[in-house]
Amino acid sequence: MVKVLLTGGSGFIAAHILEILLERGYDVVTTVRSEEKGQHILEAHPNVPKEKLSYVVIEDIGKDGVFDEVVKSDPPFDYVIHTASPFHYRFTDPVKEVLDPAIKGTTGILKAIQAFAPTVKRVVITSSFAAMARTDTLVKVYDESVWANVAWEESVGDNKGATYRGSKASLPLARRPPVTLAEKAAWDYVEKEKPSFDLTVINPPAVFGPIVHHISSLSDINTSNANILEAIQGKYKDGNMPRSIVFLWVDVRDVALAHVRAIEVAEAGGKRLFIVAGHFSAKRIADAIRETHPELESKLPENVIDDLPADVYQYNNTLGRQLLGIEYRTLKECIGDTVSSLIKLGA
Ligand code: NDP
Repeated sequence: MVKVLLTGGSGFIAAHILEILLERGYDVVTTVRSEEKGQHILEAHPNVPKEKLSYVVIEDIGKDGVFDEVVKSDPPFDYVIHTASPFHYRFTDPVKEVLDPAIKGTTGILKAIQAFAPTVKRVVITSSFAAMARTDTLVKVYDESVWANVAWEESVGDNKGATYRGSKASLPLARRPPVTLAEKAAWDYVEKEKPSFDLTVINPPAVFGPIVHHISSLSDINTSNANILEAIQGKYKDGNMPRSIVFLWVDVRDVALAHVRAIEVAEAGGKRLFIVAGHFSAKRIADAIRETHPELESKLPENVIDDLPADVYQYNNTLGRQLLGIEYRTLKECIGDTVSSLIKLGA
């Protein structure tokens, strides 16, 4: 059987990856931060035998050597999908709580695989559009060749968005020491160390979609679905729906499939893949909720002005579509299913 190590299995995107892996017959070991989170995953899959699904607790992927024992599995791993990384703005120490887990977590798992898991053929890492989005130049069309320009100095400052962007990628800026953050660090590692595995990186923009992972309460909603939840709770009824910072989106089920296809398609090795469905804006989300769930009309903001700029940047998702065969869901389907899942959770 083909065996996969999936990090961060209790997360929004990873939970969907886990479903697809199990559906396709892979054996999966997933990492979580507590026994309780691991047990929730097993309880959600009562019919999956324990040799096909198990978990290991890694409380903090930012600590040195935490993956060393985990990657020594028997039978050994064939693939690793590394999704675990902080994606929230609840931190007070950007280095310890975001940058270390993102960067050291990424280099740590690569080092551990190289040292202790020679059977691993490919590592797939979840990066982000945050590792592409530039703040200094006007990029007309985003594709896999574009890298973000956040520097270490900005990442450790007060701007929480810059910390998150920095956790994924940074390029050296003039007169500043070169810094290499998570995604960059991964590519550098592979280039320098020439390990026996190859690397594929998935770069999604804002990811929306139904919740399949366990959350103890709606206040634990993952960051990218939070505005949708707040909209259906009536928080933006007065019309102040937060403006989008990023104008590109993708459905979580398509991102999850891209991760699994990335281990199945030989040609995906060595590729950075921009997995993006299209443009969105706060208004388009409100409209999609309205169309799919008319019963929520009284909660929704009226007369939201479309904040999608007329000259918004474009995207090229050809490589991901052609290589991985992803057919993207529409915003209406995605938002409709997200809202249905939130209602089921008590929203
Ligand atoms: P979630 O917060 O739902 O998942 C993040 C996962 O990482 C959780 O399982 C979390 O565990 C784990 N994690 C965070 N910090 C640590 C740590 N220090 N040690 C161990 N585990 C840790 O977010 P998503 O599913 O949305 O994000 C998954 C990946 O996708 C991240 O790499 C994120 O940057 C990337 N991404 C997400 C996008 C989005 O819009 N959702 C867009 C682009 C990229 P716990 O919950 O227990 O803290």
